[in-house]
Amino acid sequence: METKIWKVDNFVDNSENYPQIVDAAALLRDGELVAFPTETVYGLGANALNGEAVTNIYRAKGRPSDNPLIVHIGDMNQLNGLVEVIPELAHPLMAHFWPGPLTLIFKKKEGVFPDSVTAGLATVGIRMPDHQVALRLIRESGCPVAAPSANLSGKPSPTTADHVYEDLSGRIAGIVDAGATGVGLESAVLDITGEVPLILRPGGVTIEQLQAVIGHVEVDKGLLKGEEAPKAPGMKYKHYAPKAPLTLVDGSPAFLQSLVDEKRAAGLRVGVYTVEEHKDLYEADNILAGGTLKDLRTVAENMYGVLRQFDHEGPDIIYGEAFPHTGIGEAIMNRLLKAAGGRVIKEG
Ligand code: AMP
Ligand code: MG
Repeated sequence: METKIWKVDNFVDNSENYPQIVDAAALLRDGELVAFPTETVYGLGANALNGEAVTNIYRAKGRPSDNPLIVHIGDMNQLNGLVEVIPELAHPLMAHFWPGPLTLIFKKKEGVFPDSVTAGLATVGIRMPDHQVALRLIRESGCPVAAPSANLSGKPSPTTADHVYEDLSGRIAGIVDAGATGVGLESAVLDITGEVPLILRPGGVTIEQLQAVIGHVEVDKGLLKGEEAPKAPGMKYKHYAPKAPLTLVDGSPAFLQSLVDEKRAAGLRVGVYTVEEHKDLYEADNILAGGTLKDLRTVAENMYGVLRQFDHEGPDIIYGEAFPHTGIGEAIMNRLLKAAGGRVIKEG
């Protein structure tokens, strides 16, 4: 299959026509797979009401079938037809964070979604993306859109249309290309079906931001210690990994350099994943910096692109700096620890 590319401005003007979006939306409605930009990462969309289309998402990505998909909506009214109840707590959350990088888990309305969307669960994850092109596409398609990240399962998520093309060309009908995404990592997933709201995945909306609006929130214990299985099925899988094994280093640049020196002395090509202010401190085969410690959001924005770049540079192993767990740092570390398969070396 030839994968179409539709180029669109990052900010669409609502008074204008966009034949590219109309074309992409028609294919989406008819059951084809269409990748599109959101404010987090590029998503791989399918009509969420079409079981065969949704099954094709799993096939195109090589995604395990027990990992449910997030359903994207284009306006608030769409929610009523999809969920059993909208809990009280949902209202302030939607008012503050939608459109935006927060997925809410609701009890699903029976008989609406094919099993492939929810992986057979009684709940469904829903969000409204904060991206003009995504919203326009969803509204134009007239259907809720199931969309995981538009990458091959296991690889870093795509933050540009080129990343999507690299992974999925020939496997999907098309890609709406509106340039680089903003946040750079996925939405936070918050379960609001129980007594206490529970974070199943840290993400674009931070824990601190959630607390400021609804007070107490808990974090799924399965994320913290790895003793219990995580409640979001997707959190148990290896994810986001570059080809060369990544190890995180919790310590000073001098300590990280000593690890690099040891491996280079043994004949390995060593990559270093760092930030702008540290990049000149290292001597290694590939030194890639993404963002600044002064603003961790810039690290999030660049993280997946840098991890993918290592695949092109081809080191044998990669050492990466660890980040503080504050604010968006929590989501950054959640993703990096997965990319590193949990490998961390602590100084001292
Ligand atoms: P992705 O589509 O790759 O961004 O992953 C979506 C994440 O949301 C995965 O970790 C899923 O396991 C999780 N998720 C989606 N729907 C549900 C649900 N109904 N209950 C719990 N977790 C969910
Ligand atoms: Mg993903």
